[in-house]
Amino acid sequence: MRKKLVAGNWKMHGTLMQNSALLASITAAAPTLDCELAVCPPYPYLAQAQLALSGSLVALGAQSVSEHEFGAFTGEVSASMLAEFGCAYVLIGHSERRGIFGESDTVVAAKFEAAQKAGLCPILCLGESLSERESGLTAQVITRQLSAILDRVGVAAMASAVVAYEPVWAIGTGMTASPAQAQEVHAAIRAQVAVLDAGVANGLRILYGGSVRPQNAEDLFGQPDIDGGLIGGAALVADDFLKICLAAG
Ligand code: PEP
Repeated sequence: MRKKLVAGNWKMHGTLMQNSALLASITAAAPTLDCELAVCPPYPYLAQAQLALSGSLVALGAQSVSEHEFGAFTGEVSASMLAEFGCAYVLIGHSERRGIFGESDTVVAAKFEAAQKAGLCPILCLGESLSERESGLTAQVITRQLSAILDRVGVAAMASAVVAYEPVWAIGTGMTASPAQAQEVHAAIRAQVAVLDAGVANGLRILYGGSVRPQNAEDLFGQPDIDGGLIGGAALVADDFLKICLAAG
């Protein structure tokens, strides 16, 4: 049985004061929830979050990582640095990284590998754009994005990873994939992994992300291949995030 995971992607939001209140609410509620929880704050707040989450049931994650181990890469943050600050998870290949910062499938795969080498669990984000969906290319895009990872690290690596299906057209737009649309893609992702290793596929957690709200979370999480959520906007409001976590339980 796959335990559901709900992870909050704070993106480039927050202040010390706002984070402190949000983290306090989440850690206080965590023992009453029947799902795993993680929060991914911006890099400068990792130390604050590490301290606030210590001894709690809430895991820490980062939003990106360098594909390089160390060296002259101004502005970059390595996977071992994230591990030192208590990160268990790191988002890899979020559509904003792919789209705005030009991360190719190759770079995403290198980041995935770097994260795992440092002992982090990658949350690999996959998703098609609106025009790709409208052109009937969803399956092709997801297969290509996932193949880039499988080709680089092999299927066994997926045993210590999480996948997040995040249709780009649903991120931050208020347009959610219907439970049936999401389930179809989640099942296809699991099937692609199952061709290589049925056991790994069966244990793989596949989160849905894209305008998840308290009102739609239960229907999405009720689908057989949806194992939790990656939450953006709603993760910044304690009450909404915790209602979504409740729906996952
Ligand atoms: C995200 O950025 O990963 C996300 C899912 O955002 P939102 O929930 O705001 O659509």
